[in-house]
Amino acid sequence: MSGGDAGAPGNGHGPDRLRLVLATANRDKADEILAILNAELGDAVELLARPGHVAEVEETGETLEENARLKAVALLDATGIASVADDTGLEVEALGGAPGVRSSRYAGEHAGYAENVAKLLDSLAAAGAGRPDERRARFRTVAVVRFPGGREVVADGSVEGTIALEAKGTSGFGYDPVFVPDGGDGRTFAEMSPAEKHARSHRGRAFRALAVGLRSAGP
Ligand code: IMP
Repeated sequence: MSGGDAGAPGNGHGPDRLRLVLATANRDKADEILAILNAELGDAVELLARPGHVAEVEETGETLEENARLKAVALLDATGIASVADDTGLEVEALGGAPGVRSSRYAGEHAGYAENVAKLLDSLAAAGAGRPDERRARFRTVAVVRFPGGREVVADGSVEGTIALEAKGTSGFGYDPVFVPDGGDGRTFAEMSPAEKHARSHRGRAFRALAVGLRSAGP
């Protein structure tokens, strides 16, 4: 990834190279987006870090797509460069789809990952949801690329799974220690390598679909 000064608008070093500024201020998400897009698009894309001077974007949308768009538009407006943003939610069936669009603020406005996970485990216990079939959940990501002039490429991806009874593993971030994806061997995302997670994750699926959209949309 190139550093904080996003520079002048336009393409990267080659005529067909797409230059995108990352809208996320979350280092964990940025690392995953970089790994997935680099694997898909390689040299065809140059990803620029979010410039430090851009104020944090308030996520006031009611859907993941609205919030992803808010972030993409804010970075495009601030830099003049095409931008890429994502918004992700964890939807837990027994909790009526919560925390959903509020996943980053579930335990409070400035809650950290561990507090959000603790609140999730407490809420499921309070709901009497102890069996795996009572702890069904899905991660969903919407990814948006916004170009000067308003053209967009939008893609989404999701993964179904269950919420574990306790946190396990140290990889990944957020709710990874309690999310066990379907079709695996029972490990949480936090017990997998990054490549194993990306192969089946919501973000992996959303950004691979986004890469397909970008290839067909052209630079
Ligand atoms: P955001 O609104 O897209 O920044 O993400 C919302 C919150 O969801 C984050 O703060 C994390 O707690 C959580 N989250 C997002 N992506 C993941 C993931 O891949 N694994 C686990 N938790 C995630």
